[in-house]
Amino acid sequence: MMPKTIRRSLFVLVCVVLMFAGQAVCLRAQGGTASTVPVLRGYSSTESQTERDWEQKFRAIPDVKNLRENMYILSSEPHHVGSPKDKSNAEFILKKFHEFGLKAEIEEFEVLFPTPKERLVELLEPEKYTAQLKEPAVPQDPDSTDAGQLPTYNAYSADGDVTAQVVYVNYGTPKDYEELDKLDISVKGKIVLARYGASWRGIKPKVAYEHGAIGCLIYSDPRDDGYTRGDIYPEGPMRPWQGVQRGSVADMPIYPGDPETPGWASVKGAKRLSLSEAKTLMKIPVLPISYGDAQPILRNLRGPVAPEAWRGALPITYHIGPGPAVVHLKASFNWNVEPIYDVVARIDGSTAPDEWIVRGNHHDAWVNGASDPISGQVALIEEARAYGQLLKQGWQPHRTIIYAAWDGEEPGLLGSTEWAEKHADELKKHAVAYINSDSNGKGWLGASGSHTLEDFVNEVAKDIRDPESGKSVWEAWKQRQIDQAKTDQDKKEIRERADLRIGALGSGSDYTVYIDHLGIASLNLGFGGGGGDGGVYHSIYDDFAWYTRFGDTTFEYGRALSQTVGTMVMRLADAPVLPFQFQDFSDTVAKYITELDKLEKDVKPPQSFDLTPLHEAAGTLKQSADRYHAAFEKRAAGNWGLAPAQMKSLNTMLFMTERKLTNAQGLPSRSWFEHEIYAPGLYTGYGVKTIPGVREALEQKNWGDVVPQMNNVVKALRDMSAEIDDATKVLEGQ
Ligand SMILES: [Zn+2]
Repeated sequence: MMPKTIRRSLFVLVCVVLMFAGQAVCLRAQGGTASTVPVLRGYSSTESQTERDWEQKFRAIPDVKNLRENMYILSSEPHHVGSPKDKSNAEFILKKFHEFGLKAEIEEFEVLFPTPKERLVELLEPEKYTAQLKEPAVPQDPDSTDAGQLPTYNAYSADGDVTAQVVYVNYGTPKDYEELDKLDISVKGKIVLARYGASWRGIKPKVAYEHGAIGCLIYSDPRDDGYTRGDIYPEGPMRPWQGVQRGSVADMPIYPGDPETPGWASVKGAKRLSLSEAKTLMKIPVLPISYGDAQPILRNLRGPVAPEAWRGALPITYHIGPGPAVVHLKASFNWNVEPIYDVVARIDGSTAPDEWIVRGNHHDAWVNGASDPISGQVALIEEARAYGQLLKQGWQPHRTIIYAAWDGEEPGLLGSTEWAEKHADELKKHAVAYINSDSNGKGWLGASGSHTLEDFVNEVAKDIRDPESGKSVWEAWKQRQIDQAKTDQDKKEIRERADLRIGALGSGSDYTVYIDHLGIASLNLGFGGGGGDGGVYHSIYDDFAWYTRFGDTTFEYGRALSQTVGTMVMRLADAPVLPFQFQDFSDTVAKYITELDKLEKDVKPPQSFDLTPLHEAAGTLKQSADRYHAAFEKRAAGNWGLAPAQMKSLNTMLFMTERKLTNAQGLPSRSWFEHEIYAPGLYTGYGVKTIPGVREALEQKNWGDVVPQMNNVVKALRDMSAEIDDATKVLEGQ
């Protein structure tokens, strides 16, 4: 870490920028020192320098002491939806925003939030065992004894009382059921035992139910996040014998948010569906259990020995069943409606107040949630504090900045979804981009989102210092990608492609409504992969003691997150021309279409589908992207030379390009999901399906959907190309 005094020196500042820059693209004389710094995309040379100066000041402000202190306060008690601490945390964050000098308020919603009334899992045959369903306190971890911890459960499970033989279904994905079919094993009338991992947890009971199961248990196998991965808590960071992963099992790939208010805001007094009308509630009882509780059940299964890939790390031979293990599973819930509290701060833009950059991270947790979500929330608070200081020093963003601490993410992205549904019309008109984070840890930058912002993410990552290596975050990220690449071809591409690829967004955090429902270009960012991540995910052990021993113990990656996301928000808010870039997007879409070509062959449809229209639309998009790029470069070199009204319409067109990728009818059987390029998989949950309409029609062999869905994608890509062309015309002065 550089001392602050040195950071203030302009000479060193320039050298630092140089060191972090991937490549220099312009020569500039500065304070008598000739040096090269890249001009920021969307800025003229002078505008770029002014922006860089403010950003440098910004990045010096986030402080590890504050990150640590705020985590200590916010994670000191369990703070799930409906708890006193959930509300007081919202008030604490509001107070912070006010102290920083920002306008802020709490927006309240009322949401369906079931909590357990009865939970029972007992093995009846061939031996008796009653599951503990309880995570023991750890003596050296004071928060592990906190009062008010939510019991271990899966939110939105059905009420139920069932007794049946057990079948082990591995991860419980559709592929695992194909394997069961081959072995001629049915789960009809049985209770399935699935392990966490490979898919989002809500998929497991959903697929089990579709195959006729009457109950579902989900356990954490030590191979996936227990002793196979490292020492278990408290010796190490990984899940101990009685550790349980809580979590939602709402059918969120249909729609997230309050199950009783799909597509509209659950403000006080809003119309609500009845429980029986709410489509996303699970139809069978589900409970999560520890590997300590799973072992007696697994040990008492016979039938075929599980295929090698299905075997976990418990010291037993894994069999599939059915039985002879017979389990009695009973679960019932208080189906309460609870208030949630979104804390929303706003900094009005000076010249374009009607263009919004929205930044969010949730504040609610399953229990104490030091890692998930407070590690990300404290970074967000430090960004807000830094903006408060810059405002006092005379900085004012051109565009409006909105900072949101969401409530109710854990049960079903409730706070972000309901807020976005409430403000949908304004957001569609005004939102330029949404930037999300969630849990943060030590390691490498992870970035996913709209590929129109891929180039921008790369640009910013070059300007942030990686705490561990001292190189730029971009350099560390690149090395990590090379190390993890599976083939030499992939390694070569990473070395040679100008921009590192960002992932596509599925679901699993608060960006979902912004990108998938409203068509707002979105990013999800966080550091991680440096050890310990996820070992105590959604358990009572995800607390301050764990995080400060095994997480980002020095909070330097929390500071790096503040610096990364805060720089992005500033740079987007201040850019004279928004830094969207369409070549990376068109390259990525072309790649997805090539995957569809292969998929079409692999699934062997009764008659082959001609995907040429997709290739043609991608070709048109590439031409539009290239032409825009050429016009953009020319204008940028000439310091824009456009009238304010032209700049305004140019920027509007640029951020509207993502809206063009949506289709108001939505995807088959899930009309809430409107994006034609990205969606969480109907049967993967968190995992993304790109060009989902076509891909899922092929995968699920819904042959009748393939052509209509392809036509929707073609239309979306053409509409986007036309919007890019309009932007190009402004630049070309036509
Ligand atoms: Zn989270």
